[in-house]
Amino acid sequence: METDTGGPSSPPACDLCGKPAVYLERHHNRHLCGDHFIADIEERVRRTLRTVAGILPQDRVAVALSGGKDSTVLLHLLRRLLPRADLVAVTVDEGIDGYREATLRSADANAHRLGIEHITLTFSDLYGKTLDDLAGVQPARACGICGILRKKAINTLARRVGASKIATGHNLDDEAQSVLMNWLRGDRDRVLRRPDEGAGPGLVPRVKPLGGIPEREVALYGILKGLFVELPECPYMHTALRGEVRGILTSLERDRPGTMGRVVEGQRRLSLQLACIPRAARPLRSCERCGDPATGQLCQACRLLDSFSGPGARVSPGW
Ligand code: SF4
Ligand code: ZN
Repeated sequence: METDTGGPSSPPACDLCGKPAVYLERHHNRHLCGDHFIADIEERVRRTLRTVAGILPQDRVAVALSGGKDSTVLLHLLRRLLPRADLVAVTVDEGIDGYREATLRSADANAHRLGIEHITLTFSDLYGKTLDDLAGVQPARACGICGILRKKAINTLARRVGASKIATGHNLDDEAQSVLMNWLRGDRDRVLRRPDEGAGPGLVPRVKPLGGIPEREVALYGILKGLFVELPECPYMHTALRGEVRGILTSLERDRPGTMGRVVEGQRRLSLQLACIPRAARPLRSCERCGDPATGQLCQACRLLDSFSGPGARVSPGW
């Protein structure tokens, strides 16, 4: 994390009040003390909630709470900034041995502390297998499998609790990584995705209130607010393309502050321009296996589960 507490001889002072600074906002080149850093983050998230991540007073919001730092900060910020909002925390237990137990405890403790209802769904309940079972001897595929199946599980949970929006803890780093990964994979569909795509009957709309906040700032906010306990890292974290892309972008951001923001903003402008071009919409149908929205006979999750042989890798009809 890029904090700046200064040396004993010349401690940097907050540019707003003169108190000792805890953070240097590099692309604005200004130092902030703890109080002004917290106020700045809260104002930026409040702005996002008012604009791009519009949450309406009548919304019931399912907060995707993994128990990690981003979603923990998200839950606390939403409760603080939207004190009357109808929030419910939803957690997916993918079944990752040695990692999930501690983060699940953290998720439950945070929801309990804020008086927010908390509901968990496991991959085993929904798919009949854990992520560890599915990743098996190909751990490099774990994050890809996890992403598709977790997205479906969160949507299933959100529908089950009657939510009208899903809020996720994706931060600016996550967003920039996703843009770059889509280009690196040559994933034309995702690169050319328009803002209205991905919505449809059966899909609960998603919002990302932390989408404009860099990962290190989310982490510092959580530390200053005393929200974190020591948690293990997912064992699959370093197996995926995302890990390499994270390294590249972090290094570019260090040398050229503002890079991640420009990557995300460039993609946003591209998708807004695409939205102005008339195009026949691809009709959404119901997945023949689970009933979820699909562009073909099966939804993406059911196609993925079909690629695994063996009994049990099917969406449970009970959900
Ligand atoms: Fe899932 Fe990969 Fe995140 Fe682990 S690091 S929780 S496998 S997406
Ligand atoms: Zn399906």
